[in-house]
Amino acid sequence: AEESFIQSERLSVIGELSAGIIHEIRNPLTSIKGFLQLMQSSGHLNRDYLTIMLREIEQIEKITTELLYFTKQKNEQFTIIDMNRIAAESLQLFEAHSKKQNITLHLQLNHEPHCVKGDRTQLKQVFVNLIKNAFEASPANGEITVRLASSDQWIEVDVQDTGSGIPEHLFDHLGKSFFTTKVTGTGLGLMVTYTIVKHHKGIISVSSEENKGTTFHLRFPKAVAEKNNVD
Ligand code: ADP
Ligand code: MG
Repeated sequence: AEESFIQSERLSVIGELSAGIIHEIRNPLTSIKGFLQLMQSSGHLNRDYLTIMLREIEQIEKITTELLYFTKQKNEQFTIIDMNRIAAESLQLFEAHSKKQNITLHLQLNHEPHCVKGDRTQLKQVFVNLIKNAFEASPANGEITVRLASSDQWIEVDVQDTGSGIPEHLFDHLGKSFFTTKVTGTGLGLMVTYTIVKHHKGIISVSSEENKGTTFHLRFPKAVAEKNNVD
C-alpha cells in the first residue's frame, strides 16, 4: 500500500508538471530547429547560431537532469540516515567551486548523530540544490553555512548564504515549477527540494533580506538511531 501511494504521488506531480515541461522543452527545440533551417538554406555554418543552439540544448539537458529525480524515486530506499554525514558529503562536492569563486563554506555540526528516516540520494539532492542556489546568489567573498541542530522531535537544518537575498513579493513563488529569476535557470531545483522534504514528512521555510542573504530552514522528524542501523 505504501508503495502504491508513493507511486501515485510521483505520477501526480509529473502530471501537474507535464504541460510546463512540454512548453519549456518545446521552446528551445523550436529555436534549434529554426537555426538549423537557416543554415540549411544558406548552406553555411554560422558560429553565432551554433552558440545559441548549444545554449538551448544545455537548457533542455538541465531541465531533464533535474526531472530525473521523479524517475529515480522508483528505486528509493528508506533507511536511518545521519544528516551530519549527508551535510558533510554535500558540502564537499562544492569545495573546488568555493575556491574558484572565493566563497567560504562553513559546516556546523553537533557531535551526536542527527538521524532521520529517508532516502540517502534524495536527501543529498536537497542539500545540493540549496547549496547550489546559495552559490548562484553569492558574490565573491560570500559565505555559505550549513548548520545542523536537533530538538526532541526534529532534526533541524539551516542553509544560509550572504548573497543577494529574495524580495518578499517573490516568496510565494518559491518551489513552484519553472519559477526562476536566472537567465539560464530551470526553476526546478526548489520544486524538487520541496517535494523531497514533503515526501520525508519534513517542513521547509525561508527567511531572507535583500542584499543581506537568505536562509532556508528545514526540519525532519527525528529517527531513533540504534547501534549498527545507521546508513
Ligand atoms: P533556478 O536555480 O533554476 O532559478 P530554483 O528552483 O533552484 O531554480 O530557484 C528558484 C528561484 O528562487 C531562483 O531563480 C532565485 O530567484 C530564488 N532563490 C532560490 N534560492 C535562493 C538563494 N539562496 N538566494 C537568492 N535567491 C534564491
Ligand atoms: Mg536552483
